[in-house]
Amino acid sequence: MTTGWSKSSATPLSPRCGRSRGGVFSLYMYRATIGLEVHAELMTATKMFCGCRNDPDEKTPNKNVCAVCLAHPGTLPVINKEAVRKVLMAGTAVGGTLAADYTEFDRKNYFYPDIPKGYQISQYRFPLVSGGALAGVALTRIHLEEDTARSIHDLKSQFSIYNLQKDRDSLKIENLNTENSFVDYNRAGVPLMELVTEPVIHTAKEAGAFARELQLLLRTLGAGEANMEKGEMRVEANISVSKDGALGTKVEIKNLNSFRSVERAIAFEVERQSKALDAGEEVVQETRGWDEIKGVTFSQRKKESSHDYRYFPDPDLPSLRLGKISTFRDFDIPELPWQQRERLRNLGFLQEQDIEQLLGDTQLAGFFAEVTGRVESPALKKSAANYILNDVAGVRKEKPDWLPDIEVFIKALALPSPQAKSSIASGVLVQVVDDSALPTIAQQVIDANPKVVAEFKAGKGAALQFLVGQGMKVSKGRSNPQALREAIQKILA
Ligand SMILES: [Zn+2]
Repeated sequence: MTTGWSKSSATPLSPRCGRSRGGVFSLYMYRATIGLEVHAELMTATKMFCGCRNDPDEKTPNKNVCAVCLAHPGTLPVINKEAVRKVLMAGTAVGGTLAADYTEFDRKNYFYPDIPKGYQISQYRFPLVSGGALAGVALTRIHLEEDTARSIHDLKSQFSIYNLQKDRDSLKIENLNTENSFVDYNRAGVPLMELVTEPVIHTAKEAGAFARELQLLLRTLGAGEANMEKGEMRVEANISVSKDGALGTKVEIKNLNSFRSVERAIAFEVERQSKALDAGEEVVQETRGWDEIKGVTFSQRKKESSHDYRYFPDPDLPSLRLGKISTFRDFDIPELPWQQRERLRNLGFLQEQDIEQLLGDTQLAGFFAEVTGRVESPALKKSAANYILNDVAGVRKEKPDWLPDIEVFIKALALPSPQAKSSIASGVLVQVVDDSALPTIAQQVIDANPKVVAEFKAGKGAALQFLVGQGMKVSKGRSNPQALREAIQKILA
């Protein structure tokens, strides 16, 4: 649903250069105006209006379904409080106005196989949240609705997703022709948050940053995972360009399912529209898709007239006066991404990219906070950050839930780097050979390698490295190599 397009923002025009068709370089001045509509599936135990499990990872089609979400006659929906609460949490976090006095659910009527009732329950005139801002972008509204089912037009390509290999024979999949489509209702009725921004974004980069911040916020609130690649968060962009500051003709790009697609598609579309206007052509109001491989948008549907969804309040659901129902509002807001950023910046030793890395991994950030809370010295805090951002994060790429033993980790900070790394990885603190034992080890190595010692004395530098290596072997890798080197040099001097 699109709202708020009528407002214009007062950002001044900025000149930009581009290459027009035919390769002739020309200067043109266009400003892009972009508004986003983002759908995000909420993480709840059950669906929006029935008791079916809300499990985005369910591989068996049509498993989490019941008479309510399949719209059997006579069934009645029941509002999922958890979903309402999560939208209100998001609304609170972005400083929006929560619907205290009145909110209602409406029927959005249209016919499609993925919508069993023949209408989608959504919110039209009275959304749960109005206003607010995120990543410097003003929001129009946040409302709650139910997701549609998933239509599958090419079952073969979905084999890996649906794990249908075992059903190959019974479904006679080999014989299916392209006219067959399938519908999986596991997703039908899953709570879906829709957030609409004001048309106040002006670059593809800003739009990408907004989408990333929203994902971070939803994860921080525990409201949703918002994995774009899994379709848990979907972005639509409304784009227009103009020369004179007035809003141009709006083009909508649908189904952007990665941050990269959001940025690339918008950048392409701004360029396409600017070039068209530059060439004296008109931009047509339409809906366009994004071809990830070719890197172009393409026309899907020309908008002759806007849809008439015949919205009306759903008579099966009560309107809500949320100001009077405290169970919807019994939540705590955790430390929000921008607050976390500020706190980490104030530590004084993290780079911006380190901070974003921690923000993107809640478990790792929690571990980091615990360690830096327990370690006093700034130098040790800094070295802890180093091990956490590199070594621990490295292991987590293979084992996503792995974290080191915190006691071992903190003690390991005092060790030389190789021993510290090995202690952190193994969870067993490497016992370091006391430096007082090093002269004995050094002597032992010198006695055992007279030839190498002679080479060293003849000025061959690599010989010393060999002796240090032998010493490390003798101490089973538990010596401080620098101290061992010094001990050997001292005897040979
Ligand atoms: Zn159900």
